Amino acid sequence: MPLTKLERATGDYMAVTLINSWDEYDREHEHLRDADVLRRWLCGNGFPGAADAVSDDDVARARELRSRLTAAFDAVSQADAVEALNAVVEESGTPPRLEHAAESWAFRSWPDEAEGLAFLAPYAALGLLEVIRDGGWERFGRCAGPPCRCVYIDRSRNRSRRFCCQLCADRVAQADYRRRRRST
Ligand SMILES: [Zn+2]
Repeated sequence: MPLTKLERATGDYMAVTLINSWDEYDREHEHLRDADVLRRWLCGNGFPGAADAVSDDDVARARELRSRLTAAFDAVSQADAVEALNAVVEESGTPPRLEHAAESWAFRSWPDEAEGLAFLAPYAALGLLEVIRDGGWERFGRCAGPPCRCVYIDRSRNRSRRFCCQLCADRVAQADYRRRRRST
């Protein structure tokens, strides 16, 4: 079946949402609780074939991938982040295949999604590597609204993003406001 690129979440988006399935802000840190959660996440992001093939063992695989992708955000340098992501691609990627996607052609360097979760590691790691290639590793960030430590990719023009989402931005702004009011 031809890839319909537009209906699918990009690799970097998949990486970020997978990493944030461990959420320090929620009392229940682990959001990737079982295979059903994994299936819903894959399906909702445009990979129904992979969702169908998911088994219970894949939950542990997805969590392991999550920690490897997280390492790219917590690396000490851009070189280390690239190294960690390259290693994921090297282990799990496939030789590039040119495929007809929607109205154009696109290279696929990961297993077919019908094979299950195997596509995810190279797909997500390549997505993050593309971010580094295009904008630099400085685009990788962690939310500045503790206890939240969710990751984000800063696509702002002047690299001014500080929070993972509007909710955290509002939460911190309100706390700052209350603090200022108390001190006056
Ligand atoms: Zn946050």
